[in-house]
Parts: sequence; C-alpha cells; structure tokens
Amino acid sequence: MAEDIVVIGAGWTGSVMAHLYATVRKRKVLVLERQPFVSGHSHDFLDTHGIRVQKFGAHLFHTSDEEVWKFVNRFSGFNGYVHYVKTRFRGELYDWPITLDTIQRVYDRELRADQAQELLKAEGLEGQVDDPAHDNFEMTMIRQVGRRLYEMFIKNYTEKMWQRPAASLSAELAFRVPLRLDNDKRLFKDVYQGVPSEGYTELIRRMLEHPNIRVELNTDYRAMPLSYQLLICTAPIDVFYGCRCGKLEYRGMRFEFVTKPGTEFNGFGTLNTPDDPRVLRLEEHKQYTRQSLPVTTLGYNYAMDGSDEPFYPVPTMEQKNRAQAYRDLAAKETNVVFAGRLGLYKYIDQHVAVREALDLFTQLA
Ligand SMILES: Cc1cc2nc3c(=O)[nH]c(=O)nc-3n(C[C@H](O)[C@H](O)[C@H](O)COP(=O)(O)OP(=O)(O)OC[C@H]3O[C@@H](n4cnc5c(N)ncnc54)[C@H](O)[C@@H]3O)c2cc1C
Repeated sequence: MAEDIVVIGAGWTGSVMAHLYATVRKRKVLVLERQPFVSGHSHDFLDTHGIRVQKFGAHLFHTSDEEVWKFVNRFSGFNGYVHYVKTRFRGELYDWPITLDTIQRVYDRELRADQAQELLKAEGLEGQVDDPAHDNFEMTMIRQVGRRLYEMFIKNYTEKMWQRPAASLSAELAFRVPLRLDNDKRLFKDVYQGVPSEGYTELIRRMLEHPNIRVELNTDYRAMPLSYQLLICTAPIDVFYGCRCGKLEYRGMRFEFVTKPGTEFNGFGTLNTPDDPRVLRLEEHKQYTRQSLPVTTLGYNYAMDGSDEPFYPVPTMEQKNRAQAYRDLAAKETNVVFAGRLGLYKYIDQHVAVREALDLFTQLA
C-alpha cells in the first residue's frame, strides 16, 4: 500500500488527523509510532491486579465543546468520573483548587465570596512592585491568591515540580492555577467529564482501525526513508530539525506504582503533596476507572530532570524564544505540518488536542 499522508505519532493529535484523512478524504495514511502502543501520553493498561493504570500519569477527559465530545464518543462511551483533588499541608487535607471553604479555614473566619476576594487582593498587593518587568509566576500568583495561600499550597509544589525558583518561571503559568470563590470542589467545571469506559488505548485503537490506515508501532520516523505528499509531525519539533536552534527542554516525570490491599486508599482521585520533599502527587487509579476490586494501585508521581519522555514544556523566556525559532522554520515548509503538544511545544489538554486537530484538518482542506 502506498500512503500519501504520513503521520508521526499515534497520540490524540496524530490519531484524529489520521482518522479524518482516512475517512473524510479517503486518503491512505501511514502512522509511525515510536512506542509499542498507540494513544501517546494517554496510554493505559491493565496491571497484574486488573486495575487500569495510566502509564504517564492520570488523564481525565473534560470539555464543554459539543463537537469534541460528540467526536470522541463515536469511539467509546465515558464513565462519568468527575475529578476531585485534595492537597495536604502539615497533615491536613484541603480542597484543590482553593475554594471559599479553604480560605475560611486558613483565615479562620466566615467570609462571603466578595470579602474573601477583597482579603486576598489586599494581601496580594502587599510588597508588590508595580512594574510589568517584574511579573513572573511568583508575583502573579501572590497577586491572585495572597501570600499565605501561595506559601502553603503553591510555592513548594511549583519549585519541586520545576526545580527552579518560582520567581524564575513565566507569569503565564499562574493563569492555569484556578481559584474558586464558591464551594464547587470539582477540579474541572466542564459540562462533559470522564474516562473512556474501556480506557484511552482502546478508544484510540478504534479511531485508527480503518482499511485506509496502516499503523507501524516501534518505529522511529528518523530510522526510515519517508516519502509523502503531506507529513503531519506530532513528535518534538526541535528533534525534527536536528536541534539546530538548540534543544527544547522538558520537565520529566517518574511514576512508581504500588498496589495496596483494601478497596480504597485515599478514597478520591489525586492528592497533591506540597509538604512532601520528593513526592509531587499521589494518584489512586481505580478511582478514575471506577473499578471494584479488593486491591488498589497508587501512582506516586515524582518530577525529575532528564527523562527519555518529554512531559511538560519548561515555561521560561529562553524556551519560548527557542520554540518560536522552530515555528519560524516550520512556517517555511510546504508539505510538513507540526501539531500537538510536542509539535507545537505547548501544554495542551486532551480535548484541546482534539479541537486543534479538527480545526487543522479543516484548514488543510
Ligand atoms: C503528566 C501529565 C498529565 C496530564 N493530564 C491530563 C489530564 O488530566 N487531562 C487532559 O485532558 N490532558 C492531560 N495531559 C495532557 C495530554 O497528555 C495531552 O493533551 C496529549 O498527550 C496530547 O496528545 P498529542 O497527540 O498531542 O501528544 P502525545 O500523546 O505525546 O503523542 C505524541 C506521540 O508521538 C510519538 N513520537 C514521539 N517521537 C517520535 C518519533 N521519533 N517517531 C515516532 N513517534 C514519535 C510519541 O511516542 C507519542 O505517541 C497531561 C499531560 C501530562 C504531561
């Protein structure tokens, strides 16, 4: 079979693109995937105890985008799991994101939403320099939530995550940290939430199951000659260009899976541990899959330098500029397109990966 579309990477982005080209445009598509499995960073598998575990950390699907939700439901039902996270400080559990309840507990007083906002604002403005040149993650975060909450729940977690001072990180990262002035304790407020009933890997496998699609696993595109009319690259953009503008850095992660007796351990999905010197968060996988088994598998997450797997783009100006240099090279290509979290060097949630792939397919018409 001679394919005219080559897709690098079988994560969400590459798989949506491959599916659309095969089904809507009836084109022959070759998907090259370095790993021995499809589904990229959303990959899950059954461990020896029968618990579906997510290899690269918990992934929860959430969206309010009707079209995205309809599209993903063509391949699988979802189990309706709604994500709740708690954070631990000095042995006490608090809601994450910060809610009105948390603010009242920390300040030990009854507050309405507007009073809480005023209090955090006043505290957040103390000691701030009114100069945009000083904007960074730490200053922006303190302005958003006040110094006390920042130091309890955010500073240590962030510095453990990135292994650098919070003041050296980009202010943009702060806008991803939610603050709730109500008592909605869900991490995501989206209309649709859940995990695919038979897992992400099965969902993506079904998306790629088509006579016009050939998937080659265990295949690094760099090890083979490629011929194509269109190449869609969802692998790292810097590697594609031989790192000629410098290497794009990623924060790595390491996961340690431990199975414990008992039907539940924490009784909720994810525990952030800003008070632990090493562990970043603790994930209880059967909470996400809603499986009923007499044991429970926990995933201890550690942030780390250097990893074969790229996880989070590093939010510094140096990296942003370097990524832009690669995007400038990409803009000169006529039949190569970069997409997805690695092709664009940006953090995107799964529903955004699907949305962007649907839009890219339309643009490439
Ligand atoms: C720790 C963590 C937790 C997350 N949690 C959530 C969450 O709860 N909810 C959510 O919506 N999103 C979450 N995300 C984001 C989610 O992982 C991304 O949205 C998703 O991976 C994007 O899909 P993608 O196809 O763009 O990238 P990927 O899934 O990374 O796919 C890229 C593919 O390219 C392949 N590839 C790379 N190099 C080569 C090569 N040389 N040759 C061939 N193939 C190659 C890779 O193996 C991979 O399969 C999380 C991300 C991280 C890092």
